[in-house]
Amino acid sequence: MDDFLIIGGGIAGASTAGRLAALGRVTLLESEPALGYHASGRSAALFEATYGKPSTVALNRASHDFHATADGGVLSPRGLMLVGTAEEEDVFLREAPLMEMVRITVEEAREIVPILNPATVAFTAVHDAAWDLDTDRLIQHFARLARGNGQVVTNAPVSAIERTPGGWRVRAAEHDYEAKVLVNAAGAWADAVAGMAGVAPVGLTPLRRSMARIPAPGGHDVSRWPMMLGAGETWYAKPDAGKLLVSPADEDPVDPHDAWADDMVLAEGLARYEDRVTEPVTRLETSWAGLRTFAPDRALVLGPDPTEPAFVWSAGQGGYGFQTAPAASALVAALVSGAAPELPPEVVAALRPDRFR
Ligand SMILES: Cc1cc2nc3c(=O)[nH]c(=O)nc-3n(C[C@H](O)[C@H](O)[C@H](O)COP(=O)(O)OP(=O)(O)OC[C@H]3O[C@@H](n4cnc5c(N)ncnc54)[C@H](O)[C@@H]3O)c2cc1C
Repeated sequence: MDDFLIIGGGIAGASTAGRLAALGRVTLLESEPALGYHASGRSAALFEATYGKPSTVALNRASHDFHATADGGVLSPRGLMLVGTAEEEDVFLREAPLMEMVRITVEEAREIVPILNPATVAFTAVHDAAWDLDTDRLIQHFARLARGNGQVVTNAPVSAIERTPGGWRVRAAEHDYEAKVLVNAAGAWADAVAGMAGVAPVGLTPLRRSMARIPAPGGHDVSRWPMMLGAGETWYAKPDAGKLLVSPADEDPVDPHDAWADDMVLAEGLARYEDRVTEPVTRLETSWAGLRTFAPDRALVLGPDPTEPAFVWSAGQGGYGFQTAPAASALVAALVSGAAPELPPEVVAALRPDRFR
């Protein structure tokens, strides 16, 4: 019998398995043929410490040093620019200080991103403290730690979970796996996994977010441009390997599924982006969507279930799963082992599943 069975091979499951491997033998079970197939393979790969609720911001900040150093570091400089129209003045003025951004004039902003449209953009602010995050390297780093004291099994959709006197028995692809503690890191499917184990759901909602990749606008070298974020998170655009990713920043509630972009939502989002720039979108190279899964209060759900302490949640990562992963997984390991968490008690309380019971 293993010590820990982790269901889900996205960043939540991989990072938790990696941390728990220091405490006992782990088995990670993932439905798909590869790790990071769902939300974790579709992100914008940004680390922005100010993004999210206070408990998320605490996780972001506590994760920074790990990201900066693990495997030689998974961060590279990007920067962030907040962009607002005249109609968005109120939201821009509210968000810019919260995000610790420095106001610059639109003319100054156009020296950084020459395609900004001075006819529509009225407010701009920037900061350097935002980084591209190498998401694949981060998943593989944690998966290696997990394999160091256990196994990572793909093509293993968990179809039944049974309580045993010593822990849990889990059925996946014709095999049974047993462990003392079960970790639910099933992303959009985490409430369904809880249901299989006879544990009450926490009320997770998957929200679809779409993305398009377009050629570099006007043939510009976009490599040093910051990520541009529309005030009120109504769109964003981020350089990616010489191209530009543009997202409508949509949040449409959906059932858990293998998500794809909605053409109409994408077109409306691209129109918002196009309105703020001088170069038209000439071509859409590809598009995709992923599910950002949120608890009702939009904070992560981390730790043992109060009604069933051998059932541990690592869910509700929303739009922050990568940037929070080092601290979130460390917190889960601390709560499972009884060690003192490094985060302040009020942050831990805001993240624990106890808050829903
Ligand atoms: C468009 C977009 C942009 C984003 N941008 C960022 C960003 O810039 N920075 C950031 O930090 N985050 C970002 N995110 C959020 C981040 O991608 C997610 O928070 C994170 O990937 C969630 O990880 P996860 O492991 O919880 O979920 P997933 O990656 O979805 O993993 C859950 C896994 O569980 C598996 N599973 C489910 N049920 C079972 C079962 N019964 N048996 C076995 N396996 C099962 C699934 O197959 C899946 O692989 C973004 C997300 C999207 C969609």
